[in-house]
Amino acid sequence: MKKITRRAISVLLIMALVLFGVGVYVVRLLEYGDSWALYFSRLNSGSSGVLHDRNGELLAEFSRNGSFYAEDALTRKACFHILGDYEGRTGSGLIPAFTEGIKDYSIFTGTTHSQDYEFNLTLDAALNRAAYEAIGEDREGAVLVCNYRTGEILCIVSAPSTDPLFYDPDPPAGTYINKCLNATFVPGSVFKLVTSAAAIETVSNIWDRQFFCEGEGEIAGVKIACVDPHWTTNFRTALSNSCNYAFAQIAVTVGQDNMKRYVKEYGFTDKHELNGITTAAGNFETAYMGDPELAWAGIGQWTDLICPYSLLRYVCAIANGGTLIEPYIIEGTETQSVQLMNPSTADTLRDMMRFNVTDHYGEDRFPGLAMCGKSGTAEVGDGTNNSWFTGFLDDEEHPYAFVVLIEKGGYGLADAGSVANTVMYTAVRK
Ligand SMILES: [Zn+2]
Repeated sequence: MKKITRRAISVLLIMALVLFGVGVYVVRLLEYGDSWALYFSRLNSGSSGVLHDRNGELLAEFSRNGSFYAEDALTRKACFHILGDYEGRTGSGLIPAFTEGIKDYSIFTGTTHSQDYEFNLTLDAALNRAAYEAIGEDREGAVLVCNYRTGEILCIVSAPSTDPLFYDPDPPAGTYINKCLNATFVPGSVFKLVTSAAAIETVSNIWDRQFFCEGEGEIAGVKIACVDPHWTTNFRTALSNSCNYAFAQIAVTVGQDNMKRYVKEYGFTDKHELNGITTAAGNFETAYMGDPELAWAGIGQWTDLICPYSLLRYVCAIANGGTLIEPYIIEGTETQSVQLMNPSTADTLRDMMRFNVTDHYGEDRFPGLAMCGKSGTAEVGDGTNNSWFTGFLDDEEHPYAFVVLIEKGGYGLADAGSVANTVMYTAVRK
């Protein structure tokens, strides 16, 4: 209340507020002190906050006049998961994270500090809108884009989404989860990028190996199936064709200890922080596995789970010569760099991911884009597939890395790949 008097709002108004509120206030103070602090700080202490995207577009604003979101519904939906909401329904996002900072409420004085907060995000709201529309209203999934030279997050979209202005008491499952940051998924063949890195560094004759696939093969008597026969492949064409049987053998050669070590080193089983938002840790089997289980784990099945954000960090590091510029989303965040992998391993993987596109996917799927990528179609155990496409542009003017996941979405290249093309095309054209 002190702040109000300082701001010389009429004494009569204060008296009215106090008399009106004091009864309920005293009774419920202890129970609801924290959330009331937010209420009072917004309406009475004079605190205000503004969030803009990288182009100055207003995404959220609160002050004594109330709490606001972007004006158009598409922006509110496309940005819902990264921003969160004033009511805390998402349990994640920047609005809860940064309103936390003004909750330094004292139960003894009943006041909060009056401060003005203004944050500019690295996020491009227009790219978020394009990604949200590319996923489509009737599909579920996630899209992430990051500048791998600077660490700036340009796009984070999770679907299904909702309009925070209109509370839906019975939303579709997963509406309040940010799938980019706070969920894990079966990776399927995008995980072959991890097995490949481990093979490059631990299997001395990997470039001399040949593999033969008739559409399936056996590891210790257990069948490993491919969608089609791949016949004779080497390491490079085994990745571009995404041959399960070849990679099953590669994973067994790499061995469980090496696989575990690289999965850990590359950050897939750890949580990470994005400007105060904690991301989900993935899973890779640590208990002893026999060769068939290790084979499945090496091709992104078995008990493998990854968070899309961890995959984004990984492809950012590959694209940036092995050095990860840790992603961030609030402009002015001090950048941190991490040597995630050996530079020569990163360069080799970059060439292999470019070869995937030129040799197998077809450059005409990504017209005008220097696309390096890897698709994945992960069986999730209920008869449906997760469709993945991840990679980056080998383009100094547009150094963008991305992850696209479409749940229950058919096939990696056709489904997630076409969303990736739309999002990257939009990013480059801007
Ligand atoms: Zn095969």
